Parts: sequence; C-alpha cells; structure tokens
Amino acid sequence: MEALKKPIKISDSEWEIMRVVWTLQNTTAQEITQILSESMGWKSATVKTLLGRLVKKEAIWTEQEGKKFIYHPAVSESETVQSAAENLFSHICAKKVGETIADLVSEATLTQADIDQILAELKQKEPVATIQCNCIPGQCNCHQHD
Ligand SMILES: [Zn+2]
Ligand SMILES: [Zn+2]
Repeated sequence: MEALKKPIKISDSEWEIMRVVWTLQNTTAQEITQILSESMGWKSATVKTLLGRLVKKEAIWTEQEGKKFIYHPAVSESETVQSAAENLFSHICAKKVGETIADLVSEATLTQADIDQILAELKQKEPVATIQCNCIPGQCNCHQHD
C-alpha cells in the first residue's frame, strides 16, 4: 500500500460517480453520463461538476487524451468504504459502537459465508473490560462526565 492519506469524505452524489470509476478504472465524463443519466437524471454538466470535485479531493485523477479527459480512481473502493464507516462511528459515543454494529448486522441481508466471516472475526476479538465515553459533555447522557 502507498503512504497513508487523510480520509476523503465523499457525498452521496460523488459516491455514484466513484462506483463507476472504480468499476471501469478508466472512463470519461461522457461514459459516466451515459451510465447514470437515466437512474440519476443527471446531465453532462452535473457529472462534470462532480468529477471536478472528486479530482480536487484527490479521489480520482485525470489525464488528457486527445480531446478527452480520462478519469481514474486515486483511492481504492475498500479503503474509501472503510473510511466512510470509520467516519460514521466517529459521530457516535464510543460506548454505543458495539450496539450499532449489532443493529447493522441485524438489518443486513447476509449469506452463510458472510455470517461465517463475521463469526470468525468475533471469535478473534479481544474484549476490553470497559469503554470510556469520548463525547463532549452535553453530547451524550452516559453520566461519565461529572
Ligand atoms: Zn459518549
Ligand atoms: Zn458520555
């Protein structure tokens, strides 16, 4: 892996673009517009705006080939998904992370292979005795703050 980058925050619209870029690895604004215009109702200008933002965020990079700009992913799908999940967990109390993961498991549609993988991770997990609340006082009501 390359050197650690700061986590990139990607909006819902930008995710739609990233999924195409991750799938195709090299693509153009025109191709992305063809793929997403019907389901998203996006025009070429929308796609170009989103591509511009993603280049600025260094989530993708671009090179000119003749008259066209070719776009490539600069970050992997798995690391971006993981950093989005970490970002979600950074918004909740450290003491509620376990409960949130349990809720996610309960809501998810899973195959036996998925369940086996999750169980294998759980079996290896070293539990801690207690978790300290990491919230700003007033942002949660666990009563650890006074
Ligand atoms: Zn807390
Ligand atoms: Zn608390």
